[in-house]
Amino acid sequence: MKILVPVKRVIDYNVKPRVKPDGSGVDIANVKMSMNPFDEIAVEEAVRLKEAGKADEVIAVSIGAPKSKDVLRTALAMGADRAILIQTEAEVEPLAVAKILKAVAAEENPQLIILGKQAIDDDSNQTGQMLAALIDRPQGTFASKVEIDGDHVTVTREVDDGLETVKLALPAIVTADLRLNEPRYASLPNIMKAKKKPMDEKTPEDYGVDITARLKTLKVAEPPVRQAGEKVGSVDELVAKLKALGVNA
Ligand code: AMP
Repeated sequence: MKILVPVKRVIDYNVKPRVKPDGSGVDIANVKMSMNPFDEIAVEEAVRLKEAGKADEVIAVSIGAPKSKDVLRTALAMGADRAILIQTEAEVEPLAVAKILKAVAAEENPQLIILGKQAIDDDSNQTGQMLAALIDRPQGTFASKVEIDGDHVTVTREVDDGLETVKLALPAIVTADLRLNEPRYASLPNIMKAKKKPMDEKTPEDYGVDITARLKTLKVAEPPVRQAGEKVGSVDELVAKLKALGVNA
């Protein structure tokens, strides 16, 4: 069984994003970039399934600038077998990403595609769902547990009121949530080995996908500064203050 794992290069989660002075977007010049954290979890899950003998090959794929090779190398160092870079300097929206992934899936025939639940740069949380719709396959989003059972995958999902379990016929789409696993650090020998693993280079045009933006960014602004909190001396004082604010305490 093949597993395809789409990984996105985003601003590192430890970096506080800066808005460009003209409000046209987020400044990524000289900013540390890394693999989207949910995609690390997706890679880890795919590699664990391979280590458990449930999968034969893990393929990492990224759509983005040539520097996206860095995140693909990280995926290879974590244990993916090969990588595909679909190179473009344009910002690619979730629908276009999903269309490209559909074309990659048609070529590679993976039984399982594990994405991150969302990319932390745009927080769209759309690509996995759109891909499932485009290729007409079942989806298990926000996964906190994934078990392969013959020609099915059982996914425990994190939903608002607890956990939900769904059983999907393969091929299927899964999106990884935070509690699915704790991704490994790539060891130095594995980083060295990853340099020899194959990486194909393609473009969106190779897959016949039009990546023209459908969305227009009107303005990007910093969120309002949070007001400082206030310490109260007792529960009574807290209740009085809440009442004064009109909260039904
Ligand atoms: P989003 O819908 O943008 O929040 O992204 C959800 C997931 O789709 C990410 O966690 C990735 O697994 C995948 N994804 C989104 N954009 C890309 C991209 N440019 N290249 C590869 N995978 C992507």
